[in-house]
Amino acid sequence: MKKMNSTLCLIVALVLLNTSVFAQEKKAPTYKLITNVSVWDGTSDKLVKADVLIENNLIKEVKNGIKAPAGATVIDGKGGTVMPGLIEGHGHLYVNGNGIADIENNLTYDQIAIRGAAKAKAALMSGFTTWRDAGGMASGLRKFIDAGEVDGPRLYPSGAFIGPTGSHADFRNTTTPNETMFGAHSSAARNSISFTADSPDAIKAAARQNFMQGATQIKIMSSGGILSQFDPWQLNAFSAEDIQAAVEVAEAYGSYVQSHAYGKTAIMRCLENGVKTIEHCLMFDEEIYKKMVEKGAYMTTNITSFSPYITKIDGMTPVSARKANSAAVATANFVENVKKFRPKMGFNTDAIGGVQLGIIQTDYSIYLSGQLLGNLYTLKSLTSVNGEIVKLTGEVLDPYFEGSLGLVKAGAYADLLIVDGNPLEDLSVIGANEKWLDAPERPIDGIEKMKLIMKDGKVYKNTL
Ligand SMILES: [Zn+2]
Repeated sequence: MKKMNSTLCLIVALVLLNTSVFAQEKKAPTYKLITNVSVWDGTSDKLVKADVLIENNLIKEVKNGIKAPAGATVIDGKGGTVMPGLIEGHGHLYVNGNGIADIENNLTYDQIAIRGAAKAKAALMSGFTTWRDAGGMASGLRKFIDAGEVDGPRLYPSGAFIGPTGSHADFRNTTTPNETMFGAHSSAARNSISFTADSPDAIKAAARQNFMQGATQIKIMSSGGILSQFDPWQLNAFSAEDIQAAVEVAEAYGSYVQSHAYGKTAIMRCLENGVKTIEHCLMFDEEIYKKMVEKGAYMTTNITSFSPYITKIDGMTPVSARKANSAAVATANFVENVKKFRPKMGFNTDAIGGVQLGIIQTDYSIYLSGQLLGNLYTLKSLTSVNGEIVKLTGEVLDPYFEGSLGLVKAGAYADLLIVDGNPLEDLSVIGANEKWLDAPERPIDGIEKMKLIMKDGKVYKNTL
């Protein structure tokens, strides 16, 4: 009996070995070699002359004079610049109506999903190869994108954002009851865009629900907002215990919590209680900076908050405009403080609405960030810093665990752009546009100086 078992084991082992040898023989690596380019690596303040060798979906080598392996596809970059694909640090594929009331009252789940997929494709064709979604389902879309059925960026979805009743996460009308799980009388709750949760236990359940549906991190609403109707932006929506509840569940999954927070009390409460990324962080100052450094935390700020046109955007009601004006006064030192302390800040457009609104707001956000904070800081926020932020998800839940993101270096994913010009000197090569609300429509692949877009080693645009 013993002998038979060992013979059986040997046969099984041989079969497995043969299968894996066969599988390896069948899948010979494919190579792409990019030549005749300069490289901006995602962190440096200058370009270097180098070739870039890609093996399958990862960058294998970055140096001058690489010899093309047999069978490699050679891409002549025509003197352009290779740079990392862009990373959205805080977008909303599924919060895609014209303001909150439109999302809650008018859009059906299929409209939301179809528009979400269209926004994902538009983002990829604008050079965004990774997207951290800060609220709204998106994990189903990620599965289709990763399976190659739909074009879009790599997605790190937070699932439904979580806030208490009457907070920035509460999309209901004033007449809608709140008697079922997560406020499910709300269309936004039923579609996993926003959940209301009023106690640590309810917050834990909502966070677990998000992870079950495929979230890679948890998003909470720790302060009020501008576009929402009931909550003052100054509201400190969650207690320390509430925040700890979300952090406890996220950390149990090896992941982290991102929190919407405008005011200083909310920001400091989040940082003290384990939140890793502060979204908006509009009252950023020296004390917040020191706490961020101590805790290894990041911020992402939608720089359009500091645009002179902010009160003119779609969905801005008189209530919202009043809130925006008072926020502008309270956050007047933001730009000065960021320039002084240079925190680890990720790029964030926070564009809700449809495809064109997203494109236009992104192009303008790149322009405005360059103007207010400088090109290098803006480029790092769009690449290496957001690359660090998405990796806070941790190995267990990270759908893209094979390589780093937001860098051009060996071992990073082959998520690359080739642009015609030097991005450090000219952000229009990645679409920067000084026009915002009066910008003309542009085709989704209409950034002329963006010649090549590659994600996971696959080319999605090539006009070289
Ligand atoms: Zn947002």
